[in-house]
Amino acid sequence: MALPSSVAIIGGGPAGLLAAQRLAEAGYRVTVYEAQATVGRKFLVAGHGGFNLTNAEDATSFSARYGQQQGIFQEFLRHFSPHELREWAASLGIHTFVGTSNRVFPLAVHKPADLLRAWLSRLQELGVRLRTRHRWLGFVGATSLLVRDETTDQELEISSDATVLALGGASWAKTGSDGNWVSAFEAVGVKCVPFAPSNCGAEVAWSAFFQTKVGRMPLKNIALHCGTEWVRGEVMLTEYGLEGTPVYALTPALRAALSAGTPALLHLDLKPDLSDEQLLTKLQKPRAGRSLPDFLRQQLRLGAPVPTLLREVAPPEATATPPALAQLLRRVPLPIQGLRPLDEAISSAGGVAWPELNKHLMLRRRPGTFVAGEMLDWEAPTGGYLLQGCFSTGAWAAQGVAQWLRK
Ligand SMILES: Cc1cc2nc3c(=O)[nH]c(=O)nc-3n(C[C@H](O)[C@H](O)[C@H](O)COP(=O)(O)OP(=O)(O)OC[C@H]3O[C@@H](n4cnc5c(N)ncnc54)[C@H](O)[C@@H]3O)c2cc1C
Repeated sequence: MALPSSVAIIGGGPAGLLAAQRLAEAGYRVTVYEAQATVGRKFLVAGHGGFNLTNAEDATSFSARYGQQQGIFQEFLRHFSPHELREWAASLGIHTFVGTSNRVFPLAVHKPADLLRAWLSRLQELGVRLRTRHRWLGFVGATSLLVRDETTDQELEISSDATVLALGGASWAKTGSDGNWVSAFEAVGVKCVPFAPSNCGAEVAWSAFFQTKVGRMPLKNIALHCGTEWVRGEVMLTEYGLEGTPVYALTPALRAALSAGTPALLHLDLKPDLSDEQLLTKLQKPRAGRSLPDFLRQQLRLGAPVPTLLREVAPPEATATPPALAQLLRRVPLPIQGLRPLDEAISSAGGVAWPELNKHLMLRRRPGTFVAGEMLDWEAPTGGYLLQGCFSTGAWAAQGVAQWLRK
């Protein structure tokens, strides 16, 4: 009897490992090649600040999170949905719950490492072979791959019936997602959109006084606006600018404004739950000799660092009258100088350009070679959309491989 077809998966992140699982379950011989000594390093990093696996919002809103790529992601998400992702985690003994903003987390008893461990033992049961410290160097001929075994420093030419490349984006290089694969793609004519930071902090040129006085302080229950887009949540003022979910969600809009050469201006609404009228009414109460910080604290529960922030970004006349102050609290201007460096970003925009791929995520120039995960040119906000996107494209690419091999 003929051996089942072989599939090489390059990159042991969530996209690659899910593709490996799906293909092994379908009966293929699967080998995963991973450059690092262990797989899933970025997956484990993702677990540090609250392991947000996916999101429980409805399908239409969910796919809209992928911006320009929402049409194609609708199909990926139908193929491997947020619900299926939760069931998959449960099949590994990791149960999940829906937290605030519909974010889906594993129960507190389950650590990210538990999930990875259970997953790797499932892959082992399925016969998936894992080759760590094996770095993919590029394509050879029409179908083969060049890989360096970094334990022996030997270069190997690998031939398989199909390949899935899931090499990750270009942030947090220390996890292995260094984006260095781009040159090998470009060497065979595959176009890649340059990487840019996504879900990252924004830089503000605070004065030395502000940096010393405020350092790192949160502003809770705010709304952050960039042009017509706005996001509710909490931001952290830092020595270099701003961090936090609303800033991350606005990075595409900020990037667009910055690249157009126009000043990128964020506006902070410090009291988004009050109507303009309610805000003005509260500010029209007599100050009775109270200082601005005392008045803001007592009337609006706006304590530190708000008075220092207002002094930093607005002239004294902006706080002189109740109407002016109301307007300022509604739209505190934050001039953004730039985004934080790519390596610090939670994810990256850019990667393999969509026209290079067919609808099965197969490279048009290299039949039999599929691409999945963050190395594709898409971005999405934090909130579980990143991992879900990686899992769904991994499952979709695996399906494409199976169809292609059947043909
Ligand atoms: C701090 C932080 C927190 C995050 N939190 C969340 C969260 O809560 N929820 C969420 O949805 N997402 C989160 N993410 C994002 C998420 O971790 C990534 O989007 C996801 O891991 C990308 O999966 P991937 O499989 O595409 O790539 P990766 O996980 O980056 O895996 C790619 C793999 O390919 C390997 N590789 C690269 N080049 C080569 C090569 N030449 N040869 C062989 N192997 C190679 C790498 O070593 C790596 O193991 C977070 C990310 C960070 C940095």
